[in-house]
Amino acid sequence: MQEYRYLLVGGGMAAAAAIDGIRRHDPEGSIGLVTLDRHPPYSRPPLSKGLWKGKRLETIWRYADPRPLGVTEYLAAEAAALQPTEHVVELADGRTLGYRKLLIATGVAPRRLPGDLDGVLYFRDLDDYLQLFRAARKERFLVVGGGFIGAELAAALRGQNKEVHLVFPEDGILARLLPQDLSRAVTEYYRTQGVEVHARETIAAIEAKGEGRRSILAGGGAIEADLVVAGVGVRPRTELAEAAGLQVDDGIVVDAKGRTSAADVYAAGDVARFPAPVLHRSLRVEHENNAVDRGRLAGENMAGADREAEDLPFFYSDLFDLGFEAVGVLDSRLEVFADWAEPYRRGVLYYLDEGRVVGVLDWNVWDALPKAQALLGEGPFPDPTVLRGRIATT
Ligand code: NAP
Repeated sequence: MQEYRYLLVGGGMAAAAAIDGIRRHDPEGSIGLVTLDRHPPYSRPPLSKGLWKGKRLETIWRYADPRPLGVTEYLAAEAAALQPTEHVVELADGRTLGYRKLLIATGVAPRRLPGDLDGVLYFRDLDDYLQLFRAARKERFLVVGGGFIGAELAAALRGQNKEVHLVFPEDGILARLLPQDLSRAVTEYYRTQGVEVHARETIAAIEAKGEGRRSILAGGGAIEADLVVAGVGVRPRTELAEAAGLQVDDGIVVDAKGRTSAADVYAAGDVARFPAPVLHRSLRVEHENNAVDRGRLAGENMAGADREAEDLPFFYSDLFDLGFEAVGVLDSRLEVFADWAEPYRRGVLYYLDEGRVVGVLDWNVWDALPKAQALLGEGPFPDPTVLRGRIATT
């Protein structure tokens, strides 16, 4: 059996950051990395943003060469079982790997459309990007889902001058996140940019039509497209942890140091649920900064540091020339106080739960995240208008 001082299961941004964290404290201990992906770790945000705007593919890799880092990669390999007491991981191909410290950073798996319709590209990883990029020679695209992936891909494909239809069940784009008026304004903006938006719609059936697809909408219409690409949400990949008896609650439960309920086992990234004491709750966050910061923290602690996470992770998006940075809980069902410098173009939105700030959205307002972080948990504000100007909107 091959033994590693550090074994990382999952090969995304959290695992890559953990390597960095480990090497800050232990320059030599052996590291094994097991990933289902056939590629070594890469940055995911460019797949739906930068690569469509001229960023070069070579820039996405998280490290150039595993050898100087002392990392042995197991690509296109599945960790099938974990025995935490024995400190052993079994791969699906029968190999067993021993560890002293283990990181589970298995991320999330894309949800599929109901009915498991044929001919849909569920967009999540680099191979999905490569498939869509190759298809981008074609002309007509149907994007399903009004969340992050749907919104970003629709903008990216429209930026390539393609005909783009966007279908989602909610009233507007990013409706789970943005208050209704802002979500509507973004949706209208997409229309002015030439995206054919079909809100409050779902796909009932997809038929082959020539080389392309004909999608029947539940509302009765039909859309013809060369390719159907979907981002309809994700679920955390917790099977390995669950089967091994680790505490799981919509994510692998970890403490402020990234430790799971099993000795010597850590978790980080999209799959981990961590405490957010300032907000009096736990969170699972599916964004880059969380993967990088908490992945690095877990790596450092695996290598003997004893650090606790400080700030909550931030996230961001680009939607044509609109963009935002945000921190905390953004849920459109919360009370939201909007401090607009220019309505729907530039401003700061404060999300309040029982009067306390639980999330801040800087809408085309940049470099304000430290102030946003500092506001989390503040309150109660019976009159939220007192928040006006707390973060400059200019
Ligand atoms: P998402 O942001 O959760 O959005 C999923 C969307 O699909 C929602 O609008 C959802 O509507 C919709 N949907 C669900 N069932 C549908 C159906 N049958 N037909 C049409 N639409 C349906 O998830 P995502 O866009 O797939 O992104 C995956 C993950 O990657 C997310 O966790 C996201 O945070 C992350 N990501 C982040 C960034 C960023 O940080 N900038 C960028 C890309 C991806 P309901 O809400 O009604 O279910």
